[in-house]
Amino acid sequence: MIPTPFYLIDEARLLENMRKIAALREASGAKALLALKCFATWSAFDIMRPYMDGTTSSSLYELRLGREKFGKETHAYSVAWSDREIDEACGYADKIIFNTTGQLKRFEAQSAGIKRGVRLNPRFSTSGFDLADPARPFSRLGEWDIAKLLDVASLISGVMIHYNCENRDFALFDAQLGRIERDFAPLLERLDWVSLGGGIHFTGENYPIEELAARLKAFSDRFGVQVYLEPGEASITQSTTLEVSVLDLLENDKQIAIVDSSIEAHMLDLLIYRESAKLPQDGDFPYQIAGKSCLAGDIFGEARFAAPLQVGDRISVRDAAGYTMVKKNWFNGVAMPSIAIRRADGTVELIREFTYEDYLSSLS
Ligand SMILES: *Cc1c(COP(=O)(O)O)cnc(C)c1O
Repeated sequence: MIPTPFYLIDEARLLENMRKIAALREASGAKALLALKCFATWSAFDIMRPYMDGTTSSSLYELRLGREKFGKETHAYSVAWSDREIDEACGYADKIIFNTTGQLKRFEAQSAGIKRGVRLNPRFSTSGFDLADPARPFSRLGEWDIAKLLDVASLISGVMIHYNCENRDFALFDAQLGRIERDFAPLLERLDWVSLGGGIHFTGENYPIEELAARLKAFSDRFGVQVYLEPGEASITQSTTLEVSVLDLLENDKQIAIVDSSIEAHMLDLLIYRESAKLPQDGDFPYQIAGKSCLAGDIFGEARFAAPLQVGDRISVRDAAGYTMVKKNWFNGVAMPSIAIRRADGTVELIREFTYEDYLSSLS
């Protein structure tokens, strides 16, 4: 048995998402690029590659990882490129997407050999979290002034518009895309490609994939553009668990189980967005599942079990792929979870273990 803690990627579950992505590509003509900022566990790329068109990135390192480990089409976006990065970035990228027209003009010469785009900020979004809302007041994420964008239209062949956040509501997506069509038509008509970004939760249960495909196709036909999607969370949702073990049990007006992991180190988004981990909820024995770091609020959440927990019991934390493994860190020196893959035939393969040497080499 693999020692805990470890992230366990379930190939069969991942393939369910991949088949939905393939179906959407097929029916809509849209291309799908994995957003590496959400999931960059490259040992899983062999599973994903046949079903996706490539990757998109938010930095030079993600871009390079996409080029070297995923291959296929490689889009490069960054909120701001530096003078030191730009030549290397253009060397890896098929397309480079600038956040502002200022960056586009600054790096016009360096990027002349590849396709270029600019990020368009439609100034509305579906995000309920201010922290993650690209349309928040004073947002730095993209250009919103169509006159400014039309000014540089001859330098670009496309735009990227990332404005959805785990949006499960097709009607809302449809209406907002309609708004983009109305507000930005004079620009869209001049482009070859439009990326609609990520955040569309089309691999979720009961999402009307056929309607989404028809809508994307209609958009693509109307403006004569290749549509791209950049699914992050939708690519890997529900595919991975974090496997932990109970180290100690105590009582303080609640039964508490301390496990060999930490949300601050291994599931940081729970802390940032003040959410609970997805834990077992069946049975008569409730416990608060807590991390082993010394942060008081290092709490995975409330769980229920069929029998009282014992030291050594294992617990599976669901949905631990997106924005999780990419954010893991060495806070408190807590042992880093290994990475394992449960193959479609049921065998579990240990891919990577982390040791004290990895901790040591993360600082100096
Ligand atoms: C974060 C991000 C994505 C992926 O978003 P998900 O919600 O994980 O699908 C795609 N494109 C851009 C530009 C992003 O910033």
